[in-house]
Amino acid sequence: MAILLLGSNINPFTNIKKAISEIEKLSGVSITAKSSLYETEPVGFKPQPMFINCCLEVSTLLSPKELLYQTQGIEEAMGRTRKIKWGPRVIDIDILLYGEEVISDKDLTIPHPELHHRLFALIPLAEIAPNILHPILKVSIKELISRKF
Ligand code: AMP
Repeated sequence: MAILLLGSNINPFTNIKKAISEIEKLSGVSITAKSSLYETEPVGFKPQPMFINCCLEVSTLLSPKELLYQTQGIEEAMGRTRKIKWGPRVIDIDILLYGEEVISDKDLTIPHPELHHRLFALIPLAEIAPNILHPILKVSIKELISRKF
């Protein structure tokens, strides 16, 4: 089981839907749970449209690296360019969790290093998996959210 976070603030409803259908088409990946779509404030660089975020739980035969490679392929095919670090984006796909694995490579960090800081990731995740434990912090997603308030 892996958890993906999708985000977009350029035609976000269309692009999130498109990314979900592209993820559904990947071989060795099947979507087992989908959160609602959440409207969230941009982080870091404020003067830009609101984001839509959505979390997916997937069951996958791909390794973490293969999953990253495939999701980056979708980002690129959908025309994502990296111009402003925190700027508007067609689609962003992050791997938040991959089972209980802890990975710290130059191009892949799992759990996602910002997961426990970001309500826009924790809240959609809590909708589909409130009780899973953060593999490093060893506390539930629900508990991580309650620590923010
Ligand atoms: P961003 O522009 O925020 O989407 O960052 C993309 C970069 O983050 C890529 O070069 C990835 O190799 C790297 N990265 C590291 N860990 C992760 C992760 N858990 N999920 C997605 N991208 C990651």
